[in-house]
Amino acid sequence: MPSDMPATEAGQDFIRDLIQADLEAGRVASVVTRFPPEPNGYLHIGHAKSICLNFGVATEFGGQCHLRFDDTNPVKEEQEYIDAIERDVRWLGFDWGRHLHHASDYFEQLYAWAEHLIQDGHAYVDDQTPDEMRASRGTLTEPGRNSPWRDRPAAENLDLFRRMRAGEFPNGARVLRAKIDMSAGNMNLRDPALYRILHATHPRTGDAWRIYPTYDFAHGQSDAIEGITHSLCTLEFEDHRPLYDWLIAHLPVPARPRQTEFARLNLAYTVLSKRILTRLVQEGHVSGWDDPRMPTLAGLRRRGVPPGALREFVRRVGVARANSVVEMAAFDACVREELNRTAERRMAVLRPLRVVIENWPEGQVDELDAVNHPEHPDAGTRRIRFGREIFVEREDFMETPPKKFFRLAPGREVRLRYAYFITCREVVKDAAGEVIELRCTYDPATRGGDSPDGRKVQGTIHWVSADDAVPAELRLINPLFNRPDPGADGDVMDDLDPGSLEVITGALLEPSLADVPMARAVQFERQGYYCADPDSQPGALVFNRTVGLRDSWAKLQAGARP
Ligand code: ATP
Ligand code: MG
Repeated sequence: MPSDMPATEAGQDFIRDLIQADLEAGRVASVVTRFPPEPNGYLHIGHAKSICLNFGVATEFGGQCHLRFDDTNPVKEEQEYIDAIERDVRWLGFDWGRHLHHASDYFEQLYAWAEHLIQDGHAYVDDQTPDEMRASRGTLTEPGRNSPWRDRPAAENLDLFRRMRAGEFPNGARVLRAKIDMSAGNMNLRDPALYRILHATHPRTGDAWRIYPTYDFAHGQSDAIEGITHSLCTLEFEDHRPLYDWLIAHLPVPARPRQTEFARLNLAYTVLSKRILTRLVQEGHVSGWDDPRMPTLAGLRRRGVPPGALREFVRRVGVARANSVVEMAAFDACVREELNRTAERRMAVLRPLRVVIENWPEGQVDELDAVNHPEHPDAGTRRIRFGREIFVEREDFMETPPKKFFRLAPGREVRLRYAYFITCREVVKDAAGEVIELRCTYDPATRGGDSPDGRKVQGTIHWVSADDAVPAELRLINPLFNRPDPGADGDVMDDLDPGSLEVITGALLEPSLADVPMARAVQFERQGYYCADPDSQPGALVFNRTVGLRDSWAKLQAGARP
């Protein structure tokens, strides 16, 4: 566990309380949990909650957590997803050690247990068509009807099941069902399917199998094989728990794991359903699973979100049994807080306006020291060049400023960050009347940003030097959807926000930004946190905005230096 992670506190959440109680009562000797993704897509921020919970409690209680791929449906699963999931769990800061498992490792054992159920009269092969099975399942208010094949003798079931395995029948021709109770109030107990025929190649077992276990049959038994003590899953599995327990009770499994459910993480303006995330990728609404607008771990990483901010977010959200929707602002706050502490500061001008300093000698260059992090002297300083021509933010100039505007305006003096005071003397416009250049003068006595006569300026603005600034494209990442509950009335794709990606071309950065490592966010002073995108080429940098700065302008107005 990363050292910056808080240790557990008593009474922190109901799951930790339950584990504590199980340990104290001696019901379990040590804690074993698992994170069980199905490799049919990339992990998202909701999975981060489950990962932090499962790995977190294992570490806090001195136990272990397994990474187990729930790879029982080869039709939707791919090696690309397996690799991405491992990469993302590691990136989030967790280590499964030697406990990397796959449900497919247990196919032979699961199969043997299916035969065991058949022999005990607890499972049968059903020849009904999928439609017939659906029709005889009943509803929430009406009981189901027994299948005409329900009372087949065990020998016949065994023969058919073996032939299913041998690949004698086409997809959908037969299924193996548990023989429980077609009139059970809980639909999951109405003779649920345990095995289906699937003529498909599996990423790990290849063509060895023509039948595959269902989630319900594979999951609890895999837990038992691995000695999982606490099988933690989301609330939608609550109704599956009686089946989970039924299977454990009817099989000679080596352990009796228990399932406990907690609420899924839901985020406003976001979808966290793999089905919909897959559609976003496949229909081309985003550039891929790692598009920085995606709520996937790969997308968040590319956007520049540090893993510690995700862990802190999950910690603040907590673990409860009630479903809720968390505001994006809560997530952004975690990202901002961590980056404020860790990200180095740099200067970048998003929409440049040329400034010529008339009393600066042609060709002369000054080198100034800029602080890399205001709170960490260890982060050091860097040298930035200052010359006769610089660029400032277009937004930092107004020809006729309103009262509270403390930045550049005709006749107005401001501080250039780390440099000098300058005063605007003249405004140059093009034929269309647009401001294209400011002519200013500087005060040589203010080098470093203070005036010897103690005169105050109210604004401090950032800038880059014209002779060495490097151009960049900036991608401002906004929410993908334009309503807090995408898809609530109609197709979720209708709620996509066409403005989710804003591109700024022609931004100018201080040259040290050309060497910033990928996926390591920096603060563009007064603008926000940005991080280099893998689309960057030498001479054609691309940066993503990880998150904006809150209230930077308000602070500036209050007279504080940024
Ligand atoms: P889908 O999005 O189609 O429902 P899934 O996200 O449940 O699929 P899995 O691979 O089965 O996909 O999830 C792995 C684990 O992560 C499960 O234990 C699941 O309960 C948990 N999980 C998934 N989504 C969330 C979420 N939003 N919040 C918390 N845990 C989640
Ligand atoms: Mg699932």
